[in-house]
Amino acid sequence: MGVAKLKIPAEGEKIVWRDGELRAPDNPIIPFIEGDGTGADITPVMKRVVDAAVETLYAGRRHLHWMKLPVGEAALKEFGSSLPEEALQAIRDYRVAIKGPLTTPVGEGHRSLNVAIRQALDLYACVRPVKWIRGLPSPVLRPEDLDIVIFRENTEDIYLGVEYAAESDAARRFIDLVHETQGVQLAPESAIGIKPMSRHATERISEAAIRHAIAMKRPSITIVHKGNIQKYTEGAFRNWAYDYFTRVYRDLVVKETEIIAERRPTEGKIVIKDRIADSMFQQLLLRPAEYSVILTTNLNGDYLSDAGAAQIGGLGMAPGGNVGDGVGVFEATHGSAPKYAGQDKVNPGSLLLSACMMLDYMGWTEAATAIREAIGETIKQRRVTYDLERLMPGSTLVSCSGFGQAIIENLRKA
Ligand code: NAD
Repeated sequence: MGVAKLKIPAEGEKIVWRDGELRAPDNPIIPFIEGDGTGADITPVMKRVVDAAVETLYAGRRHLHWMKLPVGEAALKEFGSSLPEEALQAIRDYRVAIKGPLTTPVGEGHRSLNVAIRQALDLYACVRPVKWIRGLPSPVLRPEDLDIVIFRENTEDIYLGVEYAAESDAARRFIDLVHETQGVQLAPESAIGIKPMSRHATERISEAAIRHAIAMKRPSITIVHKGNIQKYTEGAFRNWAYDYFTRVYRDLVVKETEIIAERRPTEGKIVIKDRIADSMFQQLLLRPAEYSVILTTNLNGDYLSDAGAAQIGGLGMAPGGNVGDGVGVFEATHGSAPKYAGQDKVNPGSLLLSACMMLDYMGWTEAATAIREAIGETIKQRRVTYDLERLMPGSTLVSCSGFGQAIIENLRKA
């Protein structure tokens, strides 16, 4: 055990945040977390493809300097902590990072490192685009109709991890409090979990969602909540979001209810609507074309993004980013899939598409677009990993690294 020493690359500069804008030099240092389980398979592939794209696109003018951060199972063995403060500080200092999946024990052991990173760095917006790439297998008839970006609030809700074990003193005190204040008698042996939600957190994720909608000319924002049941948390989230949009962006937005009640035309404005979470799962399957930006709470967003991923090729193709003010950590939506670790087998697509989001965030959009196009071309050639191959008749099975290699070949052809 010891202090987690970082190996800072000899060359490269820090990305800086100035006047509310991220400024990436041509030679940024990018911290990365390899990840547990299959992280060791997909992360090197992601780095190779990104390096190849940067080299191809910018002809030596730009270069990334990767800095490995000790986080996860290996860091626990070496330094006695799976999330050393030095690693968190490096992300704060260098501002843009990418991570492979990290393992979290269920029902015991340490809290989720993914959640801990998001909370420690105040990465309040979890951004998950869900868009089909032509040729990917899908259980729905028209996967091309689904093109949404989920903005999931990342710092509150049950993910704060405030829980009291069944039969603990604290749980008993809560049970008494609930009886006193609500007149409700909970089973005395109940475990208790707390679901906090605030106007402040709702407003800043609403701001992130509408900024994206304006920049990308998206037609609507749908607030997804369970406010019919959880009135003071999920219901308040809905009300605070509506209030924010109509107070701060009144000229740019129109509420769906106004369109219906007043027969108002949208006049190119962003339509603000809301849906109850359970109904939203159905809507995404039955009427996906009616949705564009989704603004939602932490747990709803977690479920919805995996369900959306299933429609566009599975978890292996679903990217994500966790973004705060001037700091972003990009990561695959899936977990560490430990049963496939070390087999050079799983799909690196999710982490690669997350790297594209990272490049966009840095302003290196040409490299991001080139990688997305090369992935599209590789899918078109039907050279795919096992998760897709079994669902795509006539396709050629490639390994994790083989998929990366095929993408690099397609990058260079373009
Ligand atoms: P998982 O996403 O790791 O794997 C579930 C299944 O999905 C796998 O068995 C595999 O069939 C498929 N899969 C996942 N990634 C794939 C890929 N890249 N290519 C092809 N198929 C893929 O989910 P799990 O088994 O529930 O979780 C394993 C561990 O990961 C747990 O400890 C969990 O807490 C953690 N986890 C981490 C993150 C994260 O780091 N952000 C997210 C979810 C789960």
